[in-house]
Amino acid sequence: MPSPALLKQLAKKHGTPLFVVDHDVLRRNFAEFRKGLPRVQPYYAVKANPDTAIVRTLFEAGASFDVASMPEFRIAYENIRKMPPKPRQHWIWDKIIYANPIKDNDTLRQLNPYKPLVTYDNLEEIRKVRKYAPHAGLMLRLNVPNTGSVVELSSKFGASAGEAVDLIAAAFKAGLVVEGVSFHVGSQCANFQNFVQALAIADGVMKEARSRGYAPVKILDIGGGFPAPYDRHVRPFGELAAVLNAEFDRLFPPDMEILAEPGRFLVATAATLVVEIIGKSRRDGKLCLFINDGVYGTLSGVLFDHCQYHLKAFRKGPTEICSVFGPTCDALDVVSVAEDLPTNLKLGDLLYSENVGAYTTASATHFNGMPLARIVALNR
Ligand SMILES: *Cc1c(COP(=O)(O)O)cnc(C)c1O
Repeated sequence: MPSPALLKQLAKKHGTPLFVVDHDVLRRNFAEFRKGLPRVQPYYAVKANPDTAIVRTLFEAGASFDVASMPEFRIAYENIRKMPPKPRQHWIWDKIIYANPIKDNDTLRQLNPYKPLVTYDNLEEIRKVRKYAPHAGLMLRLNVPNTGSVVELSSKFGASAGEAVDLIAAAFKAGLVVEGVSFHVGSQCANFQNFVQALAIADGVMKEARSRGYAPVKILDIGGGFPAPYDRHVRPFGELAAVLNAEFDRLFPPDMEILAEPGRFLVATAATLVVEIIGKSRRDGKLCLFINDGVYGTLSGVLFDHCQYHLKAFRKGPTEICSVFGPTCDALDVVSVAEDLPTNLKLGDLLYSENVGAYTTASATHFNGMPLARIVALNR
């Protein structure tokens, strides 16, 4: 995190709410991921934070991208199109995977000329892809256990192991090519066994597909879910990496292509939010602080990401447990009902919240006419 003095100085210069992104932290997180999982190419999941400067820094560090809409595709492609052209037929696969299993017809039509790699998990999608994006390569998204992950995805996406090979066969029958399989263990996955079980499921499906003659099924995409160190209960990335590397070496030949789609792990710790106290009251004896950003804005992860953000004060002094509310007129706009903050905080004082890089600005709205936080880049 930037020093408190620097945060205050930046807030004075740019105003609040202010979203401070430290690009050195992005590079460090990316390097840690690469070092921990040397067999894996990371495709940054743009949905975690689509800020163009973040995408550019990760691109320059060597990242590829997981996108889920045409606007996200364009944010990634803007960097990729500047690369020296590669004559290879499917060069774009090295840099972009379109990992939304459900795509509308128009999106498929727009994707088709790029000969993209796209995920699917059902028969209707095979029909759509054949009709509107016949040049796409396919990755079958598998349903895997999400037990103990903070954000669960298994209820919405993924073919079961039982139907997987039939879905692969159906795609080949339709004249398409399935290049591999993918899964997602759920976001902020604290239960590393999810990965172990998912790898076993994926390995079984790939082996069965190949034994039934579908030789192209070779790429494994292990998705996202790599946990950010929000608190001391999160076990370090190195531990997860050791588990994964052992499974890779046990299950897969050394030349197998493995990719991952880390979102949160790369960006969460790279941003800090600075807000201002704009109101203060006591309700039934409890101190209530009103700040100029909230759950409809940068702290939207309270609602959408099941995330609890903690606020810290620059001012020192005896503390008490208070409520912190966002600036809108809606009573849902509650940032926290239990923050330990100084009693002597005054209107105009600043607070800050660390590790807010993922699923924050990405889902912020203008609800009630409130402006979005300004984004500043450090060490860009
Ligand atoms: C959201 C998402 C990711 C990123 O997940 P994290 O938990 O942030 O790493 C990766 N892949 C897909 C398909 C996603 O939907």
